[in-house]
Amino acid sequence: MENSKQMRTWLDDMKLDHPLVIAGPCSAETEEQVLKIAHDLIDTDVNYFRAGIWKPRTRPGMFEGVGAIGLKWLQKVKEETGLKTATEVANRAHVDLALEYDVDLLWIGARSTVSPFIVQEIADALEGTDKIVLVKNPVNPDLALWLGAVERLHTANIKNLGVIHRGFSTYEKTKYRNIPEWQMAVELQSKFPDLPIINDPSHITGKRDMIFDVCQTALDLNFDGLMVETHNDPDQAWSDAAQQVTPASLIQIMKDLKIRKVTDEEMDYNNKLSQLRAQIDMIDNQLIDILGKRMKTSDQIGALKKQRNVAVLQTNRWNTILGKMILEGEAKGLSEEFVLRLFKAIHQESINHQEKIVNA
Ligand code: PEP
Ligand code: MN
Repeated sequence: MENSKQMRTWLDDMKLDHPLVIAGPCSAETEEQVLKIAHDLIDTDVNYFRAGIWKPRTRPGMFEGVGAIGLKWLQKVKEETGLKTATEVANRAHVDLALEYDVDLLWIGARSTVSPFIVQEIADALEGTDKIVLVKNPVNPDLALWLGAVERLHTANIKNLGVIHRGFSTYEKTKYRNIPEWQMAVELQSKFPDLPIINDPSHITGKRDMIFDVCQTALDLNFDGLMVETHNDPDQAWSDAAQQVTPASLIQIMKDLKIRKVTDEEMDYNNKLSQLRAQIDMIDNQLIDILGKRMKTSDQIGALKKQRNVAVLQTNRWNTILGKMILEGEAKGLSEEFVLRLFKAIHQESINHQEKIVNA
């Protein structure tokens, strides 16, 4: 695949005057639930109705999807509402059924993208299809693996391709369910400007009150669309309850989002600026996060010192840290003065934390 800038894609052919919107429940649960949500999404910005039919669950024993019967409900959605339909496929059998029931858009889930065997099986099953096929990023932040999956589909002569950015797993708990690592999506966009990229704020955040902000960042970074899990009764959803929004909230979100329409000349400048700003925001969040972690560790040291009745301030240790950080800072282009000021502030906060613990 080469980096050609002027290709017309399936998305351009849709001639939308707003970002593409894919919405619908994490899982199809019942025919009534599916149809209710779909009807609530008529005459909104929603272009595709999503519903998971086969659900990849991290642990066994949870709801694993209604299976093929849900495809009939999706057909009904199309007949009754005119919305196009979308679902996840994870093997050849899913593909065959989804094609048989004429699902319009298929996506490969994050847990499948990690497996070249599975992706190849799906690509072979879809060979030459006109359906739109979107590839979610793999659960691990590996751009080559993500692109590799797209390449397998491209090689199978599947022309209507795109990607979905749904964030990445981490061992450490963060405020995200799956951290966005925006820079990876930005890199992908700059390498493949003609590959439509859709953001999935639901699986990135895991929480419905964070969805708006992630949508806005995605649009500021020139994403082409959004996939938002939408449920008529989110709290009672059979999967991903905390992150689903009601159709009414989705409509409000779409109304509040700032969608910047810019000329080509403005685009380049704005693009670069907003990409850099999103990176700065992300790094600032990481800084706060990491400082919080440092203070937690410092608290644990405070508790140890208290047990041993040792003084909070240990000058030797502190001088060693400072010397090391000045050298490391220099290697990263940070002035000695800055590193000194920064670490004095960190040290002071650390002492305050430990004193609180020792004197408690
Ligand atoms: C989903 O879209 O419901 C889903 C299972 O997503 P992911 O593959 O991103 O975990
Ligand atoms: Mn889900």
